[in-house]
Amino acid sequence: MIPYRIDFEKIKREVAKRGLGKILLQLPEGLSIYATEIADELKGYDVLISTKPSYGACDIEVYRDTLTIQFGHSEIPNIQYPGNIIFVEAPADVSFKDVAEKFADEVKCESVGIVSSVQHIHSISEVKEILEKRGIRVFVGEGDGRIKYPGQVLGCNFSAARHIASKVSCFIFLGTGDFHAMGVELSTGKKVYVLDPYSGEYHTVEEKVDKFRRQRFGAIVKAEEAERFGIILSSKIGQRRWKLAFAIKEMIESTGKKAYLLMSDVIHPENLYYNVDIYVNTACPRVTYDDFLRFSKPVISPLELEIALKLRPWENFTFDEIVEVNR
Ligand code: SF4
Repeated sequence: MIPYRIDFEKIKREVAKRGLGKILLQLPEGLSIYATEIADELKGYDVLISTKPSYGACDIEVYRDTLTIQFGHSEIPNIQYPGNIIFVEAPADVSFKDVAEKFADEVKCESVGIVSSVQHIHSISEVKEILEKRGIRVFVGEGDGRIKYPGQVLGCNFSAARHIASKVSCFIFLGTGDFHAMGVELSTGKKVYVLDPYSGEYHTVEEKVDKFRRQRFGAIVKAEEAERFGIILSSKIGQRRWKLAFAIKEMIESTGKKAYLLMSDVIHPENLYYNVDIYVNTACPRVTYDDFLRFSKPVISPLELEIALKLRPWENFTFDEIVEVNR
């Protein structure tokens, strides 16, 4: 059984409306184990399952005469997508009741900001009601143009948290995994609790944030000594920060150092063997943070470069975020 809510009748109506012959299924890792079950539900259509990993709505795969259905992500509002793609969010079928009550009973936090990835965005109202019944003030922030739902965060955008940070004593993140919670903590300076509905437990991410900060500061120190910079650009529709990449090149060259633009679709750190001292990544920020051990040279974010070039104080260190994309 597929443990996500997927409205197949709605999908079939969309397919009929567009009248395209083939369907391509694009699935993130967590959903790809159900790819064949999803294809079974769509029998009668020519269904292709993409074997390329799908990390976000920033990364689409489209072909002529084919309708792409990307599961597990919501569209990014400020991206202009082609017409032959639809997004099916596939919310997780799980309740936060137990873990939210446990949090309310055990944690002293008078005003809480709630954030979530799209899988659990529909649970924000459930958790809000539980906390408010216990007298806790609850805030859910609107994001910027990259964010579809109030309270939604992406691994590259925490604006929905930042917009309410001054009103809350702490945040809770609904879901599993610590990356988003760490981003919210670094971006807002407020403590974040991760509420995991599967284990029924909650935890904080302070220690991981400290370790992360130390790792990033190590990379910035190396960047201070670098003379040759490789600037990574992405060709993916939702990761194109080309203006930023060109501005970075100018910034580096104005200090008398060398910079080269490296364009890629999928970034494989092990394929980057250029004669540079360090990489500056303008593509998905998760490449900088999750994959840094796979790079043969240090990799830093655009903001970390500014710190290394003494254009920004160390105290202003935070997560790299994507606000808008451009060429
Ligand atoms: S750029 Fe990275 S973090 Fe942002 S949506 Fe895409 S995959 Fe997710």
